[in-house]
Amino acid sequence: MAYDNSRRDRPREFFTATCSECGKECEIPFKPTQGRPVYCRDCYRRMQPERRPVRKPRF
Ligand SMILES: [Zn+2]
Repeated sequence: MAYDNSRRDRPREFFTATCSECGKECEIPFKPTQGRPVYCRDCYRRMQPERRPVRKPRF
């Protein structure tokens, strides 16, 4: 399988943004949205909540 290789070759558009958490300049693979915080990879990872079982709302 050469799937992993083709993934790397593919040019991706990156946008430069300033991390809302640490203020570092970072590149993100999506267009930064105004009014929404942008996080660098490190901060984004830190922000990820630990895996929790999702509770369905009861009706
Ligand atoms: Zn950051």
